[in-house]
Amino acid sequence: MIRDCIKKLKPYSCARDEFKGEAKVFLDANENSYGSVANGNFNRYPDPLQIKVKKEISKQKNVFVEQIFLGNGSDEAIDLIIRIFCDPEKDKIIINPPTYGMYEVCANINNVEVLKIPLIENFQPDVKKIIKIGDNPKVKVIFLCSPNNPTANLINKGLVFEILNNFKGIVVIDEAYIDFAKTESFVNELKNYPNLIILQTFSKAYGMAALRLGIAFSTKEIISYFNKIKMPYNVNDFSQQKAYEALINIDQKNKNINQILINREDLIRKLAKCQTVKKIYPTDSNFLLIEVENANKAYHYLCSKGVIVRNRHNLTLCDNCLRITVGTKDENEILITELANFN
Ligand SMILES: *Cc1c(COP(=O)(O)O)cnc(C)c1O
Repeated sequence: MIRDCIKKLKPYSCARDEFKGEAKVFLDANENSYGSVANGNFNRYPDPLQIKVKKEISKQKNVFVEQIFLGNGSDEAIDLIIRIFCDPEKDKIIINPPTYGMYEVCANINNVEVLKIPLIENFQPDVKKIIKIGDNPKVKVIFLCSPNNPTANLINKGLVFEILNNFKGIVVIDEAYIDFAKTESFVNELKNYPNLIILQTFSKAYGMAALRLGIAFSTKEIISYFNKIKMPYNVNDFSQQKAYEALINIDQKNKNINQILINREDLIRKLAKCQTVKKIYPTDSNFLLIEVENANKAYHYLCSKGVIVRNRHNLTLCDNCLRITVGTKDENEILITELANFN
């Protein structure tokens, strides 16, 4: 499955790859031994493999350190997946619209063809079609998103297994919102499927989108290719420190998730009473997809009141839909007040 040029690639070897361990004097990387001009200790290059953070993730997720990749957001992982497996102008990927936009953008940047197989009833993947179209050996990767953005729902486990058992390429499951869903991650299935990659992120449940930190889990072999082609210092030291802090503060993460889930149910109840709201789709995420009478009008009205939601009207299957992130109680209250005014 690996592209020839990636298999043959001789990766860049950085100073901290060549020397690991304790030393008295570091004069190998042209750093500034007088320290940082800004506050903080940022004069040394960061750990290229982020071992301290990965050890903690490894404990919590019950996978080996070598099965973990950390990137500058999940977006980096998505881009690397395409560049590891897909030869430009030759290979293809499958996506299931409406879904997260970055799969298609990364494929387009790499000149890799995108085969679109839209979701069918209840926003579930069209497995028969996927297996049929995916039978072509040029189809290297399928991106599944569960819970899916923007539809907010989980993919049925049985359908994911059907794809895993029948599609011979790489199956990526993007679990950016998994912590808001009442189900287990597919990370536990890595030992059963050598073609599986799971994506998670610090951007949502951990509330650390500004740090840009995404995670990919897979086999040791696939992760070794991520490490081979990534930029040497792709995750900065500040992000590594804060990620570790976040990982060991599980209580705060769970508190925030619980509060968001409470607010979500409250928001659903209140939205259901708004005249303009025609439909609220079931959610397993920290956001809602709702159908309104006129999404463009509602969107612009809300904008004019300083309340920004995502207009998804132009996406497949999303006519007159808005995507609304669940906020604090106060933020949700303002949204509801303005939507009621709009009615
Ligand atoms: C928000 C989101 C991500 C997170 O991307 P980062 O680059 O890690 O911030 C990934 N996938 C989906 C589907 C998302 O909605």
